Amino acid sequence: MRTSLIALLSLFILQISLAQEPPAYAIVIHGGAGNISPKVISPARADALSEKLSEVLEKGISILDSGGTSLDAVETVIRIMEDSPLFNAGKGAVYTHEGKNELDASIMDGKTLNAGAVAGIGDIKNPISAARIVMEKSPHVLLSGKGASRFLAGHGGEVVDSSYFYTERRWKQLQQQLKKDQVEKYGTVGCVALDSYGNLAAGTSTGGMSNKRYGRIGDSPIIGAGNYANNNSCAVSATGHGEYFIRYTVAYDISAMMQYSDLSIQEAASAVIQEKLKEAGGRGGVICVDKQGNIAMEFNTAGMLRAYATANGEKAVKVFE
Ligand code: ASP
Repeated sequence: MRTSLIALLSLFILQISLAQEPPAYAIVIHGGAGNISPKVISPARADALSEKLSEVLEKGISILDSGGTSLDAVETVIRIMEDSPLFNAGKGAVYTHEGKNELDASIMDGKTLNAGAVAGIGDIKNPISAARIVMEKSPHVLLSGKGASRFLAGHGGEVVDSSYFYTERRWKQLQQQLKKDQVEKYGTVGCVALDSYGNLAAGTSTGGMSNKRYGRIGDSPIIGAGNYANNNSCAVSATGHGEYFIRYTVAYDISAMMQYSDLSIQEAASAVIQEKLKEAGGRGGVICVDKQGNIAMEFNTAGMLRAYATANGEKAVKVFE
């Protein structure tokens, strides 16, 4: 009698602790950093951004919760953001000086350190999937321009006419920037995730900078600059002024600081973004997750669109704060 009572009690305790067990996965998403404040973004646009970020967060959670991999979560989340005209990636990409769309993206698997990237492509609907195809179906890491398109068309990339990327908003933005000879506009998208198998992945996708010329490529397709994942440290996706992120190898620097100096993910992200990059004049931000599911979201701009679900069950979508 006493033994069965003890057995029942331990089963009860086990059930309680299982019920309180936090999810074994974590995910962080960004929709770009920059001058993101209520002065610049209308309430209607802020609502639309918040809704889209919630939608992709829930999608990412559902993939990870049902045992999906971090790579699948990252690719799926970014594909949905690329299909939305709200972000500077895929459908919503900015225009080059010549009135074209040249898209960059990359993806990295923290378990194997395999990586794939595309740069300056203008006829593949989802650059993040193109990056994954390069990673999984080619012996290379980075393919660019027409050669990339040729390879992708033959390996399952979804080819679209360049007119697919037309949006009135981005076209008007280019016309204004042409008048002022201005090159800017951040708004890249990215996602980092830890799955229940303990594997990290990172993905980043962008239209780059509006009014860019001469085949300019930013940091987003550069492994170690705008994107990096390593199961021994963390996964990072960046957004901001790409030239600085390349010169300061931002994503890899955060990983290296964790690996070689034993810093936490928050300490490493903050040292790189708020000290090194800021002192150099580089503007932007990063999202990061480590193998325990700790996250960091650090930016030195007015704002960064972001959403997250941590391994201890916290989740939120942030447009302005
Ligand atoms: N980092 C991107 C680039 O320089 C732009 C951005 O993040 O918005 O191409």
